[in-house]
Amino acid sequence: MQFLGATGFVTGSRTLLETENTRVYVDAGLYQGPRYIEEKNYQPLETEPATIDAVLLTHAHIDHSGLLPLLVKRGFKGQIYCTPATAELLRIMLPDAARIQEEEYKFLSKKKISEYELDGPLFTEEDALKTLEYIQVVPFKTPVKVGDFTLTYHWVGHILGAASLFLEVQNKKILFSGDIGPVESILHRNREIPPCADYVVMESTYGARKYEQENYQAKIIKAVRHVLAKKSMLIIPSFAVGRTQLLLYVFFKLIQEQRIPEIPIFIDSPMATKATYAYIHFSEELRPGILQEGYLEFLQSKKIRLIEDVSESKRLNYFNGPGILISAGGMCNGGRILHHLFNRLWDRRNMVLFVGYQSEGTIGRQIIEGVGRVKIFGREIPVRSKVETINSFSAHADKNGLLSWARTFVKNPPRALFINHGEDESRRALASALGFLKGTRIELPRYESTYYL
Ligand SMILES: [Zn+2]
Repeated sequence: MQFLGATGFVTGSRTLLETENTRVYVDAGLYQGPRYIEEKNYQPLETEPATIDAVLLTHAHIDHSGLLPLLVKRGFKGQIYCTPATAELLRIMLPDAARIQEEEYKFLSKKKISEYELDGPLFTEEDALKTLEYIQVVPFKTPVKVGDFTLTYHWVGHILGAASLFLEVQNKKILFSGDIGPVESILHRNREIPPCADYVVMESTYGARKYEQENYQAKIIKAVRHVLAKKSMLIIPSFAVGRTQLLLYVFFKLIQEQRIPEIPIFIDSPMATKATYAYIHFSEELRPGILQEGYLEFLQSKKIRLIEDVSESKRLNYFNGPGILISAGGMCNGGRILHHLFNRLWDRRNMVLFVGYQSEGTIGRQIIEGVGRVKIFGREIPVRSKVETINSFSAHADKNGLLSWARTFVKNPPRALFINHGEDESRRALASALGFLKGTRIELPRYESTYYL
């Protein structure tokens, strides 16, 4: 087993597993974030992609799947295994990731700031579409043979389709956690108890953080009251997959309980719209109570206006409010949300509500930090709208949630547990709290660390 990504980082997940006969990657993710991290995407691949038999995916997030089109471009011809919902999300997300790469290339070649010689985008939409042809769908809890390995997926409650990956090979059992969902999920079915294994590879995104209790409903009610009183717009930058559907559920519940009145809700993001259809399609992965409450009917009702074409999106500029406008990207670093901020951020009556992490250098982060002006499309826009933040909508378990996941193995501790997919501070914090796993060797692999199991 060789770790090839996400060692000390929260993106770029990729691990090589090799026997005499079979070579597979578990996940093939892109690095995302500031320039110095994204630069890693351009480093040469360690292994010829043509020699990889298969890629076993845990879920569709780009930091776990976004390297696939590059592998295909460089000669990968194996199979890509994933759950049915992951396959549907990949069809939405990989072509979108390719369009971002094409934009990025235009930007980088103009500015000449990459340390690598760039002879074109990392990959193109064509590469992404070709990648989709290699997908093999595997339902949850259904073992499938991949060369020397037997692969079984277990529900982990992170996003639609997300799984822990259980492998049996030569009388050894290996468990990859994938991204671990919170103990109690608002939207998704709660994660399942993972199977015990000889070796466990565990994520540690929030290994050093404990969530604070937050009354997000009260914050939303207050925000809606604000835009009702001012006859203005509540603008919510949101990730298209998972976060948008969670927000819609929160609005649905508050309307159903008559804690807020019905007001127009616009989803202006083609990707969020497609992802919402995927959530309807795979509704068995949602919390069972949600379905009885009538959430799916709400999603398909006229109360939500799913906007796809550009002209409709532009017409939104003339809508005065009151209304709620959910748009992507979630960190205001691209996408239609920029147009809406460009058009509305200067207006004191409006409100911007952040519902997810804003990484350094993004426009979202600048607004939260209280700058007076932000630069959008080359123009300085004054930040006059009210700004509010909700921090409790994470698709990840916090430190306590990760520990409770690992406590599953107390009676049957693994020989070794590898902590990856986390910054070093998080990895160390998690490692020092895992003392209850008696006799388990805890490893914090580095890039290219290799282990013989
Ligand atoms: Zn994820």
